Amino acid sequence: MKIGVLALQGDFDAHRRRLEELGATVTLVRKAEDFDHIDGLVIPGGESTTFLKLLPKNVLDRLRDFVHSKPTFGTCAGAILLAKHVTNPDQPGLNALDITVERNAYGRQNDSTILHADSALGGEPLEMVFIRAPRISRVGDGIEVLARRGDDPVLVRQGSVMAATFHPELSDDPRVHAEFLKLVKNGTA
Ligand code: GLN
Repeated sequence: MKIGVLALQGDFDAHRRRLEELGATVTLVRKAEDFDHIDGLVIPGGESTTFLKLLPKNVLDRLRDFVHSKPTFGTCAGAILLAKHVTNPDQPGLNALDITVERNAYGRQNDSTILHADSALGGEPLEMVFIRAPRISRVGDGIEVLARRGDDPVLVRQGSVMAATFHPELSDDPRVHAEFLKLVKNGTA
């Protein structure tokens, strides 16, 4: 399986390592042509405004086509990019997931937090590393919630698109990436 990791900014290398550990072949995606030969894409965390600034128009166009047609997994800033609506402040989203996200929503005291919660992935509670995380403040009907932080959805899926508001690439647990690779293999959940 060939997985692209958008590598303009942010912690793309941790995703690359995790995906390779799970047996995927990884391409770091920086140019429009890099989308040609990948079966799935990971959009890492970082700063979503910076992503939008750094993405040349032709790459943004390919990215938009890709997320609407092929399996994609966004973490943190990546989840923000995939959303339909983005608030605090308003910013354009790629509309691949019918969710609204509020950026930097957990406040300064809670800038970075590690929590554990049960998830639809089964087994042990999932370790969730939050860094200046967004909050999913609305989910549309088609959204499946796979894990929550209190009442807030933090791991969601719709068709072949997944998003986490935390950073699974920073935990030792490979289950979230494994779930995404299953999606890439099967086309949908
Ligand atoms: N606060 C960042 C944003 O709004 C996301 C943080 C992250 O990706 N760790 O884009």
